[in-house]
Amino acid sequence: MKIGVLALQGTFFEHIHSVRKLGAEAIEIRKPQELEGVSGIIIPGGESTVITRLIHDYNLFDPLRKLAENSVPFMGTCAGMICLASDIGSTVELETLHLMDIRVNRNAFGRQLSSFETELYIPILGEKPFPGLFIRAPEVESAGERVGIIARLGDGRIVAVRQGGILATAFHPELTDDLRLHEYFLQLARQF
Ligand code: GLN
Repeated sequence: MKIGVLALQGTFFEHIHSVRKLGAEAIEIRKPQELEGVSGIIIPGGESTVITRLIHDYNLFDPLRKLAENSVPFMGTCAGMICLASDIGSTVELETLHLMDIRVNRNAFGRQLSSFETELYIPILGEKPFPGLFIRAPEVESAGERVGIIARLGDGRIVAVRQGGILATAFHPELTDDLRLHEYFLQLARQF
């Protein structure tokens, strides 16, 4: 099974490393033809304005949307979550991929608390807490009916969601040693 990791900017190398540690093939995606035969796509953390602009500049917008229409699973972390969202307010002028029915606040945690680590309780992963690493993270302000909530902070804020085969987190599992969310995503990709 081959997972394509969007390698335009951000934490793509860390995602590739996580996927390979789990025994699956991971390739860097920069050109539309590299999407051939992938069973899943990961959009990394980084800067969503830059990643979104490069998705357009590298002619990946339509091919990525087409993969999603064909039910290929996607995973987006932090900036990747913003790239997948249908509504990000007016903070980015370029069109995002609109693959998830979520409204995302890009600067949810302000400057004071822009980066932090906290233990998350994620029922689908079992009882052991997951290390939630938040770096200038967004939050999901609201989610449509088809969107399942996977994780919340202690104060109730939504920080991980899934809509069908599309998984998004406000935090960075790729920057931790805990591979359980990548494993969960690989299971979605295997079912594809
Ligand atoms: N705040 C960043 C953005 O708007 C995301 C930060 C991250 O991916 N760590 O893209």
